[in-house]
Amino acid sequence: MAERERRKKPKEKPPTKMIWDEARIRAELTRLDGITGLNGGELPIRLNNARCTLGMFSYASPDNLNFTFSNYWFQNPDWPEESALDVIRHEYAHYMDYMQRGESAHDKMWRMCCLKVGAMPTRLYNDKLNDHIVKEHQRDEALSKQYDAYQTGMIVLHPKYGEGVITAIEGEGVHRAVTVDFASVGIKRLGIQWVDTHCAVLPQDY
Ligand SMILES: [Zn+2]
Repeated sequence: MAERERRKKPKEKPPTKMIWDEARIRAELTRLDGITGLNGGELPIRLNNARCTLGMFSYASPDNLNFTFSNYWFQNPDWPEESALDVIRHEYAHYMDYMQRGESAHDKMWRMCCLKVGAMPTRLYNDKLNDHIVKEHQRDEALSKQYDAYQTGMIVLHPKYGEGVITAIEGEGVHRAVTVDFASVGIKRLGIQWVDTHCAVLPQDY
């Protein structure tokens, strides 16, 4: 018994910072209130761990309207911020729709609300699509890191134009343009994705 008492308690993990905590979600709802004149930002927000439901506006009981959002997605660092914002706006559109007619469905009335609050007027989100979005995001992140290796002054070997020196790189992430000064044809502006796929990079002391 004493043995067990002496044993140290396992250290509690420090709470990890939430990407989308209640305050951040509420801030978006309140911003939308500014567009509609409603009070969605004052409704209770629940967070659950549902995988298949990203968000929900519940009006089962008129004096207990509330929003629910999935931590499974909202705290996933690979899930893009734009997707989270769209889910919040999607649910807000249900709220707005409900306030106008006492119910809501994915129909024309709801789509009008979507347009008003800037939600995509589609019942778009499901598990499969989200997995797809997450994978695309991860792929873009990996590519972006790869592209970070490109610097001005580097020499690339183009399959048609031959050797050229990178003189500028603009843009960010996977959307970058590389300006290359080729001995054969002069200055060309190429997409970094194209350069990365088709050109070889020559060592600096080549
Ligand atoms: Zn919906």
